[in-house]
Amino acid sequence: MALRNIREMGDDVLAKVCRPVAEMTPRIKELIEDMLDTMYDANGVGLAAPQVGVLKRIVVIDATTDEEVAQGPYILINPEIIETRGEQTGQEGCLSVPGKAGMVTRPEYVKIKALDVDMHEFELEGTELLARAICHELDHLDGHLYVEKVEGELMNVVTEENSEEA
Ligand code: ZN
Repeated sequence: MALRNIREMGDDVLAKVCRPVAEMTPRIKELIEDMLDTMYDANGVGLAAPQVGVLKRIVVIDATTDEEVAQGPYILINPEIIETRGEQTGQEGCLSVPGKAGMVTRPEYVKIKALDVDMHEFELEGTELLARAICHELDHLDGHLYVEKVEGELMNVVTEENSEEA
């Protein structure tokens, strides 16, 4: 298990557009393993490669809230949104913006295509938290943070229990 340093808001790397992954390498596989370890260690719902300082279009997500219904882990390489529907407004946080949360409106349903670790294309559909996490993480790949979309004030989070950090 290898944990990587999570970059925080103000770090230039979080404002950059990430490059697509052209081929799978042992180094990228190691990066993905480390991203999963780092996400679980930080109790995050998702993590994007730029959050650990790597400008590649790679995202890991685990939006499982009910043990009986797994919502991950998903490994998304070069993900692209192909369909969205509806709207949901809810509290959102980010591992790169510790101790804060804010209300953000996202699609209620999202469908994406991405490559898996074998560089095979697949589609993934998500609603509720998974849809929110997908949109949040894909924004990271284009240098955007949720704080740009917060409605009202960014709030201080006293306990971690109510926040979904990604
Ligand atoms: Zn985030």
